[in-house]
Amino acid sequence: MARLVLRTAWTIAWQNGRHVPLPGHAVVVENGRIADVTTDPPLDAETIAVANGIAFPGFINLHNHTVNAPLFRGVVDDLPRRIAGESKVYSMLMPIGGLAVGFLAPGQLRAVIALGLLEVLRSGATTLVDQFRPPQAMILDLAQSWGLRLYAAPYLFSPAATADSAVRGASQGSIEGLSGLAAFERLFAEFDRGERGLTRVILGPHAADSCGPDLLRAADRIARERGLLLTIHLAQSQGELDRIAARHRMGPADYMDSVGLLREGVIFAHGTHLTDAELGRLRDAGAAVANCASVFLRGGKAPCFARFHRAGVRVGIGTDAERMDMFAQLRATGFASKQSFGAGDVATAAELLHAATAGAADILRRPDLGRIAPGAVADIVILDAGKAHLQPVHDPIRSIVWYASPADIDTVLIAGRPLLRAGRTPGLDEAAIVREGSAAVSLLWEEAKRRGYLAREMEPTER
Ligand SMILES: [Zn+2]
Repeated sequence: MARLVLRTAWTIAWQNGRHVPLPGHAVVVENGRIADVTTDPPLDAETIAVANGIAFPGFINLHNHTVNAPLFRGVVDDLPRRIAGESKVYSMLMPIGGLAVGFLAPGQLRAVIALGLLEVLRSGATTLVDQFRPPQAMILDLAQSWGLRLYAAPYLFSPAATADSAVRGASQGSIEGLSGLAAFERLFAEFDRGERGLTRVILGPHAADSCGPDLLRAADRIARERGLLLTIHLAQSQGELDRIAARHRMGPADYMDSVGLLREGVIFAHGTHLTDAELGRLRDAGAAVANCASVFLRGGKAPCFARFHRAGVRVGIGTDAERMDMFAQLRATGFASKQSFGAGDVATAAELLHAATAGAADILRRPDLGRIAPGAVADIVILDAGKAHLQPVHDPIRSIVWYASPADIDTVLIAGRPLLRAGRTPGLDEAAIVREGSAAVSLLWEEAKRRGYLAREMEPTER
């Protein structure tokens, strides 16, 4: 029996429905699951000991596009509204993503995704929900070979909806067969590992304004028949609301309801423009929101975690490719909510950690993830808190959320297997991943510049 003992100063254990910091405990892992949280661990087992360590459940990054973070790093920051448009999604992110698929060779695209996945792993995320274009499906292959837990949602688009001039180009490289459903089926057959598997292929219709009712009903049917989750961007910009109103004569929540998607098992990315009444409907229906603060904060907008939380909506945290550092994301999420409510006691460390772990696990229908308790899966991060910026540890949950960073991570276990140990990644050639990934991104931006995609404001700052 493969047995491993984690000895740390603190363990964030799950007791009576919440995370509780326990000093001087050890976690016993057997065959990928947590067997015990105890002060009296077996002495003969293989042991990982971090004297000032804090063991906590790995983060669940509930909404991301891994390929985009390295692609847009340092390029789409500080942009004026006239360049970004009403939303960067259709003016910039989707067309460049399309160019990446059309221009880069599969090996180069794989290198960019590997660079992104390395950032994800080093950020302490042990579960990732990723929406991507089907030609970027090498993320599945990479996740499987590295041992990352991935919920992969290949994009679906309705050709009629994306013929609209405002969203044209968004679906480039994504449509395969009818609206991407053929690509979904191909990836599902090849990579889905079932309810408890490390990799799942789920339904990922792109957005409420790029998918028509027929496609959404078809995706809903498949999701229900196979017990799969479904995730879709919803209410992320005023332009999207205007397009939904013009086409369907209704608001975003009504539109989702009309195609069967206002229900448990559906994760809406953002929901920023939903009204209070619509949030009440999401809550009553059991639908979830993936809150991604920093990608909006970057453009001067503030989607508010505390607003969803107080409305009783099930809410998790995503990075949406605006860096994939979950610690930074939790801080941005918390600060945006505190500023928005004008109060320090909203979006507390305990609420944020819960949203990024056990709360998100429940949204994924995996109550055996996101918590350190006997029987749960051993997806665990150990932080080395023996550093100047983390000492003294007064409240370990506040230490994690308000003060830690990826560089403080000593160990990452996924299903009991160490993917990161003593700050190193056994089996991965990080130098090569960084070199090859950045080279491919540079190549893409040279081409984007040649094609006139790169506005003056996106050039490096003049010195
Ligand atoms: Zn997104």
